[in-house]
Amino acid sequence: MDDLKSGSRDKRDNWTPNACLEIAPFWTGKFERLGAWFVGYLWPWNAFHMVTALLYWFYIIPDVQTMRHLAWGWALFLFAVNAAGIFVMYGAVEFFYYIRRKQGTRFKYNGKFPADHPSEVFWFKSQNLDNFLRTYLSSVPLWTLCQVLALWAFANGWGNWVDWRTHWVWLVLLTLLVPAIHEVHFFCIHRLIHTPLLYKWVHSVHHNSINPSPWSSLSMHPVEGFLYFAEVFWHLIIPSHPIVMMFQLNATAYGAINGHIGFDTLEIAGDVPLESHAYAHYLHHKYFEVNYGADGLIPLDKWLGSWHDGSKEADELMKERFRKKKERMKAKSQITTPAQ
Ligand SMILES: [Zn+2]
Ligand SMILES: [Zn+2]
Repeated sequence: MDDLKSGSRDKRDNWTPNACLEIAPFWTGKFERLGAWFVGYLWPWNAFHMVTALLYWFYIIPDVQTMRHLAWGWALFLFAVNAAGIFVMYGAVEFFYYIRRKQGTRFKYNGKFPADHPSEVFWFKSQNLDNFLRTYLSSVPLWTLCQVLALWAFANGWGNWVDWRTHWVWLVLLTLLVPAIHEVHFFCIHRLIHTPLLYKWVHSVHHNSINPSPWSSLSMHPVEGFLYFAEVFWHLIIPSHPIVMMFQLNATAYGAINGHIGFDTLEIAGDVPLESHAYAHYLHHKYFEVNYGADGLIPLDKWLGSWHDGSKEADELMKERFRKKKERMKAKSQITTPAQ
């Protein structure tokens, strides 16, 4: 595929898409785009997470009787399935696009591959190894912990479990709202861990990967990991069903890869394109203080002034914000530091 039809490449081999990011069309009144937007909303990523939620519910999750009691057996089984699922999905993208490099740097935002650039900030100087180990030592166990606690609560009637037969309209609506819940929850915890102290002690671990790759997705400090997966507990507060809860959790765990694929489009099976939806979060890893949310489904970044759509204008606005912030900090330090 010719990536220069939809983007441009600079001297350093970094590729930038021509089209700017757009928030969901119902916020901008572009209702004629609603149909195409809705197809992209469901297909392929959310449809994939819905299917995995069903597979979990019918083939993996133990029966309700078993889940009434916390036990290592079913918890470790879920951990093994989660670990294997992430290994297959993230590992496949890593293997084909970062190790075999089947499409080179076509559609790749950053022309460099992390494996070619060892860095002291990572364990063993390797972004891949560091990110892989953090994923398995911390994030997958925390994901499983939240999953087990939520299922245990549902099984004991502590959640707000409603039936598909009597509440199907609400549950269909809630299923469609799952990505919106994710965006709001993620924005709030993400904005929180960008406050100076929490950034330094917690979130900087994730941001070590300025040029993210698949294993960066769940490479997080445990505090961030828990806050990230705690999103699932919303389904114990609002009327829900464990299948919808599993969709929320799988979209959070498996869906974390979207922002960290590093390529705008993956060429799968010849010329079939797979849009990654990675650009908004790629810009977050590049500039740090923009795009705390996701794709602009609930455009909190737009409303709060931290939206970066990839345009030159957004770049200027961001620089202006940084300049003002610097001035504020300088003025503050002059007040707190007495004159000599
Ligand atoms: Zn990230
Ligand atoms: Zn961040």
